[in-house]
Amino acid sequence: MHNYKPAADLLKDRVILVTGAGDGIGAAAAKCLATHGATVILLGRSVRKLEKVYDAIEQGGAPQPAIYPLNLEKATPQNYEELAATVEKEFGRLDGLLHNAALLGTLTPLDQYDLKQWAQLMQVNLHAPYLLTRALLPLLKQSADASVVFTSSSVGRKGRAYWGAYGITKAACDNMMEIWADELEANTAIRVNSIDPGAVRTAMRAKAYPGEDPNTLPRPEEILSVYLYLLGPDSRGTTGERTSAQ
Ligand code: NDP
Repeated sequence: MHNYKPAADLLKDRVILVTGAGDGIGAAAAKCLATHGATVILLGRSVRKLEKVYDAIEQGGAPQPAIYPLNLEKATPQNYEELAATVEKEFGRLDGLLHNAALLGTLTPLDQYDLKQWAQLMQVNLHAPYLLTRALLPLLKQSADASVVFTSSSVGRKGRAYWGAYGITKAACDNMMEIWADELEANTAIRVNSIDPGAVRTAMRAKAYPGEDPNTLPRPEEILSVYLYLLGPDSRGTTGERTSAQ
């Protein structure tokens, strides 16, 4: 997977939605998916950031993307239904879904975790990917070859002191991925997997490790081959896997 060499037009004719597409790994993934031929739906809470990614994709000559502003902390089940209806109306299909958006919160002992922040992280990191998958499932089922990717973390795969709600939501996303994968394997063409990106040079990483020299870490653009593999047709038959990007 790590030495994967994707075809230039790997994602031609595919429509893929990326959450948190305005910054960090999500922005890099959105551009990379578009470069490989996908029509990308850029979902995020900051229109200004999404517009920058949109412009970069357009200037690169890739298929025209779309912007869907949504604050995952505030979104209601009805908002997700409206999103699904819009995707159906505008594109008539959905072939991929990358759950990338997340909040880090504060690294703090579990017994002192701020309850407001706890609820915020549960909403953005866990409830949102559940509600989004659920709302988009009818569209994904119509695709001949659909792929859903959750984003995990090393601290989701093994609990570590002070990672609190972040670690818990990431562990829960891995488990949710496995449940979806198991339930959808028999009767649909939808595969569901997760990626731990590993340490990557982004704002979130810098917040978690303020003393670290970012230049020692790979840029988001450098860790995307597993993303391409899982979202493209070469991963057909791979489902329920907890993968790592590095
Ligand atoms: P960033 O903080 O750089 O990007 C996160 C993205 O999520 C941003 O675009 C952010 O939007 C968006 N987001 C946050 N809250 C919301 C919300 N309420 N509604 C909509 N969008 C929201 O993080 P990374 O790129 O580093 O992380 C990407 C993924 O990779 C995350 O799931 C993270 O947990 C995971 N990860 C990252 C690692 C790393 O080393 N970087 C390591 C392990 C896992 P905005 O720009 O508006 O804040």
